[in-house]
Amino acid sequence: MAQIPFNKPSLTGSELSNIQVAYEAGMLSGDGAFSKSCERLLEHRVGCDRALLTHSCTAALEMMALLLELGPGDEVIMPSYTFVSTANAFAMRGATPVFVDVREDTLNIDESKIEQAITSKTKAICVVHYAGVACEMDRIERIARAHGLALLEDAAQAICATYLGRPLGSIGRFGAFSFHETKNATCGEGGALLINDSADAIAAEIMREKGTDRSQFLRGAVDKYTWRSIGSSFLLGELAAAFLKAQLDHVEAITRRRLELWDIYNRQLAPLEAAGYLKRPTVPAECGHNAHMFYILLADPGARAEVITRLEESGVNAVFHYVPLHSSEAGQRLGRAADGLEVTDRVANAILRLPLWTAMTNEDAVTVSEALSAALKHYA
Ligand SMILES: *Cc1c(COP(=O)(O)O)cnc(C)c1O
Repeated sequence: MAQIPFNKPSLTGSELSNIQVAYEAGMLSGDGAFSKSCERLLEHRVGCDRALLTHSCTAALEMMALLLELGPGDEVIMPSYTFVSTANAFAMRGATPVFVDVREDTLNIDESKIEQAITSKTKAICVVHYAGVACEMDRIERIARAHGLALLEDAAQAICATYLGRPLGSIGRFGAFSFHETKNATCGEGGALLINDSADAIAAEIMREKGTDRSQFLRGAVDKYTWRSIGSSFLLGELAAAFLKAQLDHVEAITRRRLELWDIYNRQLAPLEAAGYLKRPTVPAECGHNAHMFYILLADPGARAEVITRLEESGVNAVFHYVPLHSSEAGQRLGRAADGLEVTDRVANAILRLPLWTAMTNEDAVTVSEALSAALKHYA
């Protein structure tokens, strides 16, 4: 195994003692004390009307599709360069993902190509804040409003990130966070649905509780609980919530540490950019990012496989991701490409992601940068 893995989850302090407390409280299913305190903390941090913990970000995205009652004949605009769940959540309901190209600088959906993808069937725009850098939300909000479309945020990677000072996840009608092992704050598998319109809160609670009004019953708002609508079990278990609470309590410190490491990479790799080997990430002035990821775009995508092998030989585990959804087998069958998606295809072949986790040392980041420099120069 590489001495510097791509990712390594780490404890911030009270994860294990929280789990002990949850166990001793004797209620391990969803919506226990730690779940509630995670939700209050997220509501406070994001400024959303309600936050509901889910067992994954995928589940939160699926809830969005259910809450909007999307189905066959409906279209949802999204980038092709994203994780499969962004599309699957809607395809599962029979709706059609419509793939739009990304911007060369941020790898976020290209806001200038959204309007031409809108048809009479379009119901929603689901943006993805790639690497915790915000999409151009002012322009996208205007487009959504002008066409009467629901604006959704796949903010899986975007906890603690902002756009013009507004927390990501608070801008659309719904937002979704992921607490998967690879994300900035984690409980292994977990997520949250962020609700920004109070009118959606009760329906969301019901859908998350197997289609029942059990949440209202537990609050004393109704005197028995019954089946009210379609739904599923989207709750996060209390042991995972106990772990998550510790991470959320320290999410500012986690973000600060990640930003320090990100800045080291950014400084160390500047000469390689100047020499034409690669491009570093762009963070527009409107965006407060969370250092979710440090990626580079190789000037010569043909070098990627050998660079990864050389890095591995130096003890560094670097990875790439996202076969663009429009070019995947399911994407072609279940979705539709709105435009040529040239940028998407280009960046998907050129991207390389470097290790970034809080317990990495500054020296580790320098080691990775030097190994990358050696690998690129050797290849050239
Ligand atoms: C990680 C991720 C997801 C899925 O999150 P899970 O919690 O694993 O379901 C969805 N969308 C994006 C953009 C992601 O990065």
